[in-house]
Amino acid sequence: MSTTQPLRSPQETLKLLYEVSREFNSALDLRTVLQRVLFLTMRNIGAHSGSIIVVDERGEPIESAIIHGSNMLDQTTQQLRITTEQGLAGWVLRNQTAALVKDTSKDPRWLQRPDDAIDRTGPKSAISAPLAAREQLVGVITLVNSTPGKFGRQHLSLVQAIADQAGVAVLNARLYAESKRQTRVMSALAETASVINATLNLEEVLQRIAVQTRQALNVQAASLALLNDDADELIFRAVEGGAGAQLVGTRLKVGEGVAGWVAKTGQPVIVHHAHSDPRFHAETDRRTGFYTSAIACAPILQEGKIIGILEAINPQHGHFERDTLMVLNGICNLAGTAISHAQLFVQLQAAHQRYRDLFEDSLSPIVITDMEGRILEVNRQAIETSGFSQEALSRMSIMDLHEVDKKHTGAYLERLTQTDQILIYESEMHALGDVTIPVQVLARRVSIEGVPHIQWILRDITERKHIDRLRNDLISMIYHDLRSPLSNIISSLEVLRSMLPGDDDAIESVVQIAERSTERIQRLTNSLLDVHRLESGQPILSQEIVGLAPLVDEAIEAVRLSLDAKQQSLEVAIPSDLPGLYVDKDMIRRVLINLLDNAVKYTASQGRIRLEARMADGMIEVSVIDTGPGIPLAEQEHIFHKFTRLRSRPGSKGLGLGLTFCRLAVEGHGGRIWVKSRVGVGSRFSITLPVAPLESLLAHSARKTSTPEQQKGKKYEQH
Ligand code: ADP
Repeated sequence: MSTTQPLRSPQETLKLLYEVSREFNSALDLRTVLQRVLFLTMRNIGAHSGSIIVVDERGEPIESAIIHGSNMLDQTTQQLRITTEQGLAGWVLRNQTAALVKDTSKDPRWLQRPDDAIDRTGPKSAISAPLAAREQLVGVITLVNSTPGKFGRQHLSLVQAIADQAGVAVLNARLYAESKRQTRVMSALAETASVINATLNLEEVLQRIAVQTRQALNVQAASLALLNDDADELIFRAVEGGAGAQLVGTRLKVGEGVAGWVAKTGQPVIVHHAHSDPRFHAETDRRTGFYTSAIACAPILQEGKIIGILEAINPQHGHFERDTLMVLNGICNLAGTAISHAQLFVQLQAAHQRYRDLFEDSLSPIVITDMEGRILEVNRQAIETSGFSQEALSRMSIMDLHEVDKKHTGAYLERLTQTDQILIYESEMHALGDVTIPVQVLARRVSIEGVPHIQWILRDITERKHIDRLRNDLISMIYHDLRSPLSNIISSLEVLRSMLPGDDDAIESVVQIAERSTERIQRLTNSLLDVHRLESGQPILSQEIVGLAPLVDEAIEAVRLSLDAKQQSLEVAIPSDLPGLYVDKDMIRRVLINLLDNAVKYTASQGRIRLEARMADGMIEVSVIDTGPGIPLAEQEHIFHKFTRLRSRPGSKGLGLGLTFCRLAVEGHGGRIWVKSRVGVGSRFSITLPVAPLESLLAHSARKTSTPEQQKGKKYEQH
């Protein structure tokens, strides 16, 4: 047994510790500090080789200094891991206690290597101590002397003293290294962000991501694949280095290969030995002739959903750095947003193009002006309709192109600035060569790239104007050409009646039929004319005071024949204290006839009809209630418009003019008309009519002594 090597005096020991602490405080980078301390310790303790391994909080080796004789060795983290897992250093780390090994060939804690064989360097003695600081294990120092038994307790104490000194310094250096590493990661990511965000072209964004990944991770190749719409296949979209362009466009099933595994699980992964990993898909290498040794791969997410993967292949130094996944995940995060932006941009451009197409292909001329009316843009149709060239139009104002209706827009178009609503009016376009084209104008403020503009649609209504004119001509033709022959028939019938013998029922009923039919035609022509007059805004002139009851009586008389024929019951309920109406008697009689006529027409034989009246908000409200088929809610609004007939009842006769006339007549009197109806139950048409004003009532009662006859609950029963 060889004797332990004598140690130096306490002074020398103190000097050593002092030097060690000075080295640690010299603030060089971690590796250099480790090397110097190790060297100093080895020399002072008489070791032939030694190592200091620094571990992170998970016990993973992150830095080391290894000296063999006078050689500095370089080991990969992979090799270090074996040492810290299996060797003496590993035992010390796990147990957090120093160890003294007098003979390495006899201590199971020593990891026997080929070098330890008898015919090589043979058994040795060793010391190993943990480096700890603030209750944290930060590393391990191991020293070896080539002769067994050379180290003793004193050496162990000295090494422990050095280890204690080293602990805090290593911890600080480790934190410093960590922050430096993070700075490196951050700056790599910042650079990547600025590069990939500098474009919105999707293909370019993808390619730049691949380029940046390759640079930031210092790998041979980087590739990016996106999931297809069904999310069951990855399609390689950008490849930088390695197999390069020949891989672009190739597909990989989700779940297939390392990339497919990442796309499926959403887990980032590092595969150090691709060919021995069961997930590896060797087919791609076979096809491209590229040899994949190690892969780092991470998912690209968009709003929590996997949209693709990014992979880095074959690190240039043979192994991936510790922060590979951190950097790769960082780039993937950036990629997710950059891809989103590029995709949104594509969509935006498509929407823009769609709008452009709509604008260009619109059948109506569209003109975009600034808020002062200067023409900025016109579509094809505007050029075609106006006859002006685009160039000429761009020098014009909207006021030159058409007669702006200042009542609507305000003198300086200011009303368009104030409202978001569409202003609609009719006007004339001044086309090339003094041609005027009737147009309907729809003007609206629009925002283009955040700046307010005015969009003018100038719809050509030449055709409609023409039809309007035709219809007006037709109406006045009917009116003028029917009126005089009609009055002739009526007067002839009157003469005929005066000549009747009086006792011949057959002749009497024939004349009666002729009389009623002519009355009907007269009513129709009068209503047609009224519709025409009221629509053009002419006021009602011949208003007089009249009782509702006598007017209702006359109206009932007019529908009596149909009422009798269908054996319907009509109940009339008019309160006796109702004031007089102030209306155009003939017109309102025709309104009542129309409502009653519809009620009779649409109610089944033997059905019930009711007319009732009441005061409502200072007006007289008259309602005609039937038990007919009712009117669907969706159509209730339309039936008061000209020539509207219910779509749900296509077979019925009529022009669809009756209710239009009623509406115009009632509204002309300042009243309202509406319907309440339930399909299968019946309809209730109501109108409101004005009451005679007090002064005219007084004047009226001074002229007449008797008030108009009023009826209450009078029943007309036909069976
Ligand atoms: P028409 O000449 O067709 O009767 P109207 O203007 O009087 O024209 O009525 C318009 C449409 O409204 C009619 O075609 C009919 O479909 C519906 N309508 C009017 N009155 C009634 C009612 N009392 N019951 C059911 N439907 C009605």
